[in-house]
Order: sequence, then C-alpha cells, then structure tokens
Amino acid sequence: MTISAMIVIYVALALGALCTLGIYSEMRRRRFGPMHPEDRIFRCDQCGYVYTDDPDVDRSRCMQCGKLNDPIAF
Ligand SMILES: [Zn+2]
Repeated sequence: MTISAMIVIYVALALGALCTLGIYSEMRRRRFGPMHPEDRIFRCDQCGYVYTDDPDVDRSRCMQCGKLNDPIAF
C-alpha cells in the first residue's frame, strides 16, 4: 500500500466519522427539540401548563396550579 492511498483512506474515514456524528446529533436535536433531552415533559391537565422535570419522578406537580400530572409518553 502506498502512502497516498493510506492518506486517502484516513481522510475518508475521518470524514465518514464526522458525517455520522453530525447526522446523529442532528437526529437527537430534532427528536427532543430545544429542551433538555433527559428531562420528562409534563402537561398540566387542569391549566394546560407545559413544563419539564427530572426523569426519575413518576408524577410532577404543576408550577402554576399545584396539580399532580403524569409525564407525556412519546
Ligand atoms: Zn396546572
């Protein structure tokens, strides 16, 4: 194998890794939107307020009216 062929393969691999990383981060960003990806999204049944909370809580209290709500399932 020549040096130029090794350089071409190296550059191709680096570009492929960059593309894979870019597509992966773009998919993550589109799926979760601007909100924190590890947070759960809640929507209040009583007043309609949408908010996020930690992923380890099953039910979260509405900051507007104090009602307990279930997380939105995707
Ligand atoms: Zn509420």
